[in-house]
Amino acid sequence: MGKATGFLEFERQELKYQKVDDRVRHYNEFTVPPLESDMQTQGARCMECGVPYCHRGCPVNNQIPDWNDLVYNGDWETAARNLHSTNNFPEFTGRVCPAPCEAACTLNLFESPVTIKQIEYTIAERAWKDGRVQPEIAKVKTGKKVAVIGSGPAGLAAAQQLVRVGHDVHVYEKNARAGGLLRYGIPDFKLDKHVVERRVQQMVAEGVVFHFNAHVGVDVKIEDLKAEYDAVLLAGGSEKSRDLPVPGRELRGVHFAMEFLPQQNRRVGGEPLGAVDPISALGKRVVVIGGGDTGSDCIGTSNRQGATAVVQLEIMPKPPEKEDKLLTWPNWPLKLRTSSSHEEGAERLFGVTAISFEGQNGVVNKVNCVKVDAKFQPIPGTEFSIDADLVLFAMGFVHPVHEGMINELGVDKDGRGNVKATEADYRTSVDKVFAAGDMRRGQSLVVWAIREGRQAARAIDEFLMGSTVLPR
Ligand SMILES: Cc1cc2nc3c(=O)[nH]c(=O)nc-3n(C[C@H](O)[C@H](O)[C@H](O)COP(=O)(O)OP(=O)(O)OC[C@H]3O[C@@H](n4cnc5c(N)ncnc54)[C@H](O)[C@@H]3O)c2cc1C
Ligand code: SF4
Repeated sequence: MGKATGFLEFERQELKYQKVDDRVRHYNEFTVPPLESDMQTQGARCMECGVPYCHRGCPVNNQIPDWNDLVYNGDWETAARNLHSTNNFPEFTGRVCPAPCEAACTLNLFESPVTIKQIEYTIAERAWKDGRVQPEIAKVKTGKKVAVIGSGPAGLAAAQQLVRVGHDVHVYEKNARAGGLLRYGIPDFKLDKHVVERRVQQMVAEGVVFHFNAHVGVDVKIEDLKAEYDAVLLAGGSEKSRDLPVPGRELRGVHFAMEFLPQQNRRVGGEPLGAVDPISALGKRVVVIGGGDTGSDCIGTSNRQGATAVVQLEIMPKPPEKEDKLLTWPNWPLKLRTSSSHEEGAERLFGVTAISFEGQNGVVNKVNCVKVDAKFQPIPGTEFSIDADLVLFAMGFVHPVHEGMINELGVDKDGRGNVKATEADYRTSVDKVFAAGDMRRGQSLVVWAIREGRQAARAIDEFLMGSTVLPR
């Protein structure tokens, strides 16, 4: 343990952001990178608990107390090695993870967990700055070929693990660039795309072959991949957005978040929008339906595009400002979360649902709403309307897209419509076909996708070789 009294001596240091007025003028990341010396002090706050709940709270089981201590002692090199041993992409999670580890930290019982996420970010960035993140090229090739479908965090993590143990790995991606939702969902102001690209380049140098604009089930036959490869991993995400089929849904200006957000990411990335109508919030009154990360990203993007007003509707009742930690710790608590995008300007309405949209000349201009009770039933007499020129649905994703690859493969699905496979071996009902990430577990988090990609890689390696050295 670095400093036995650190948690008594030092206060938690919160992540700092650029001022709202400044950051809404651009799409760059707006967090102020923490000073390494400050992170050493923050690392000293770790008590290195005998039973480290942080470690249990982290889906990839990062060895958090170990690298907190290493950072406190200034050994950034060993800290980076340790961090990469459990997480292929700590620079992604160090930016966008909600940090269940911090909710689980013992110090969180007293409101001030260790700044685990900032320390993770700083270790990862220091490793890149020092040139320590180099391609890890397999010394021996196995002669086995694996196809990974989808280049989100699950597909990327699996591909990197598999290529490092000597398999030939080919990633098939329907978009023009790699990253999945890291690239086209999460806005640049939360995750700059050079951060994704430099990892992709590391993987290319390690031998991963990327096939872009390759939509399996549309441009590429899944049966051909099955015939050509020794194993196939389905990592296509959960892309079927939840709809709200109420009167007026067909009006122009009513869109899924995932019609809106990827366009802005493409604009920032200098990528053509393709054959779609451009959607913009400029000069518009925007209503975002749904809370969560996607809803927040719609708010942040709308404000940057120049929306005149943003209102967010959430069907759930307003959660408490603070959780009862003695009841919830070390689990992820339900409480009111105010994201950086909320701080940039949005009115939030809770316990409300939209019941219809109205418009003029086929274009939306009004959202009709009603308050709901605890069972989400409309409360008579509570109807009201909001003027709106752009409505964005951010109510989550129901399951993967079935049409095309999944239906052609005839793979079994679970009760929610996800590809059926267990965490024990990630095998689907179809021989030599595996599934991981949101496509298997349903919509989730980047860190869970990384975990699933790593674990699926282990299962595939064991399937191909009879045994494996890859960690679970
Ligand atoms: C707007 C938004 C913001 C989010 N913000 C956060 C956040 O801040 N923090 C967090 O932890 N999580 C966040 N999430 C969730 C997180 O991004 C996902 O859980 C994670 O990306 C899932 O990873 P994945 O690899 O399973 O799938 P995805 O990232 O969805 O990647 C799937 C990839 O497969 C490709 N694909 C699909 N079908 C085919 C096919 N047939 N042929 C070829 N390619 C195919 C897709 O194009 C895509 O590139 C957010 C999600 C959204 C939508
Ligand atoms: S739970 Fe918190 S204090 Fe304990 S080891 Fe983990 S980070 Fe350190």
